[in-house]
Parts: sequence; structure tokens; C-alpha cells
Amino acid sequence: MKRSWMALTLALGLVLAQSTYTVQPGDTLYSIARRFGTTVEALQVLNSLEDPSKIAVGQVLKVDGQPQAPALQRLSAPFGTLELPREASQGQTFRVRVHSEAEVTVRFLNQRYAPQGDSLLIAIPRLQAAGVYTISFDAAGSSYSAKLSVRAVEKGRQALTLSPDTAALLQPEKVAAELARLTDLCKSGPSTQLWRGSWRKPVESNRITTIFGIRRSYNGGPYRSYHEGLDYGAPTGTPVFAPAPGVVGLAEALFVRGNAIVLQHGLGVCSGYWHLSRIAVKPGQQVRTGDLIGYVGSSGLSTGPHLHFEVRVHGVPTDPAAWLVRAP
Ligand SMILES: [Zn+2]
Repeated sequence: MKRSWMALTLALGLVLAQSTYTVQPGDTLYSIARRFGTTVEALQVLNSLEDPSKIAVGQVLKVDGQPQAPALQRLSAPFGTLELPREASQGQTFRVRVHSEAEVTVRFLNQRYAPQGDSLLIAIPRLQAAGVYTISFDAAGSSYSAKLSVRAVEKGRQALTLSPDTAALLQPEKVAAELARLTDLCKSGPSTQLWRGSWRKPVESNRITTIFGIRRSYNGGPYRSYHEGLDYGAPTGTPVFAPAPGVVGLAEALFVRGNAIVLQHGLGVCSGYWHLSRIAVKPGQQVRTGDLIGYVGSSGLSTGPHLHFEVRVHGVPTDPAAWLVRAP
């Protein structure tokens, strides 16, 4: 008896310590996530899985839990100290810490940023070419620069066909105006960070139907765009909850995105919820983690009930799954 317990403990220890898992008959990504004390999102991120329902028996998955915290470089500039990662992936958000008495301006990829307090969040655009980039810091008449390498991520491709009616509805000016409004909203909002720790999932569904970052082609055209959020399949009327504290920046029907909500979370971070059947909040309202904000639907340009959830940093879309696993 004692012996079999020991063997069991040993076997369990080995299972938990290993960093890959071979899919067995009857496994789902959800059951594997539960078994390893992780989440479906984490496994999808680790394994770049497009469709969590499509895992095959014999497939080898990485299961070593949470993505690693980035390796930081600490630098001494003439005006203070800086802390930033050495590398970041396409579509990933990273944090820069600036400890300085002087007012510091940060320049990266042709954008200028002013840290709030000592913190600044920057998202690497999904389609930014992999390579080594310069990040510059200006303060008190002196300048300092550091290198940050951008890693490529492979998220797969998706060819979509739009009906002539839908294609006709997508007038470029209308589409651009809607996006510009969202981007502006995401660049404003509270200057202090309202969340602490990882975010909660906005909907009770483990059916991720489209991951962030998959490259998209419409009607046989080039793969010029990508999916800017994370789609959860869920029936119409399923409640949608705030994944983190925030202020409602927008709550109204939009042309492309249908009934839409934008929450502002501070430090230039906002989250979006599209295609809702109903909206349960008003602009200016403060929400806490877990507050009901609306209900899943299929409004706007949508092919069926689902929640499109996205997170933008200074207007740049970033992988929402990462915020659920380890918020920056
Ligand atoms: Zn979507």
C-alpha cells in the first residue's frame, strides 16, 4: 500500500515537473489546463494554437505553465536609471521603468511617450518586422539609448470571404473613422494604472474561436491585416464582465463593431468588447473587476454570436490572452 502511494507521488511529481505533454484520447485543452494548474489561454499562447478544440491525440504540447517574466536590462542614464526588457514579441506589451528627477521623453518606433509616474507601457505592433530596434530616452538636455529586439511569432493564416453586400458596406472612410475614434479613446483615459495583477476572463467560455494575431486575407487578397482581439464563442445573452477595473469610455452601437464597449484602465490601456446584444453600462461609469457590462450577441459585422475581446496600449492592439495569464 505504502509502496503504491510512493509510486503515485513519484509519478505525479514527474508529470508536474515535465514541460511537455502528449495529448491522450479523451483529452481536451480544458482538461489538460486543469491537470497542470494552468489556463486554456496560457496553453494557447504557449503553443500558438489557433483553435483549442483542434488538438490531436499524440500532439506534443508545451505545458510549463505561465509565460516567463521578461529578462530585464537595468541601465544608468545621465539623468537616472532605466529598466526595460531585452526582447519582446510581436503583439506583446512591455513595461519601461524610468527613475529620474527630470522629465523624460521616450521614443520608440516613431512614437513619443511620456511615462506616467515612473511607468510606461508600450505594445509592439503585430506586424512589426523582427529585428533589433533602438529605444531612446531624452531628459534634461541629454539623450540615452538602448536596444530592444523584437521576436517574430507565428499565429497562422485565415482566408475570409466577404459577400458582395458585406464588402459594399465596408466603405473605407467609415471603417477608418470608427477605428480612429477607438484609437483616440485608448490614448486618453486615467493616467494612473487601475489594475493590479492578471485580468479575469470577460466571459464564461472556454471556446476560443479566433486567437489574436492570425493573419487575414479577404476575398483572395494579400494577408495584409490580422485579427486584433480574442474571440470567444458563447450563446447570445451570455453575460460579459469587466476583466479589470476601469472607466467606461464608450458604450454605443458602432457600424462595424456593433454594440460596443470600451473600458479605459489607465497608462494608455483600454479594452474593447464588440458585437454585443445588449450594453449594461454608460459612458463615464466606473467599473470594478467582475462587474456586468453587457451581453454576448452578433451585432455589427458578425457571422454568429461571439464576444470579440481586445486590449490596446496607446491604441496598438496587443494579445489579450497575455493579460489573462500575466498582465504587464
Ligand atoms: Zn474578433
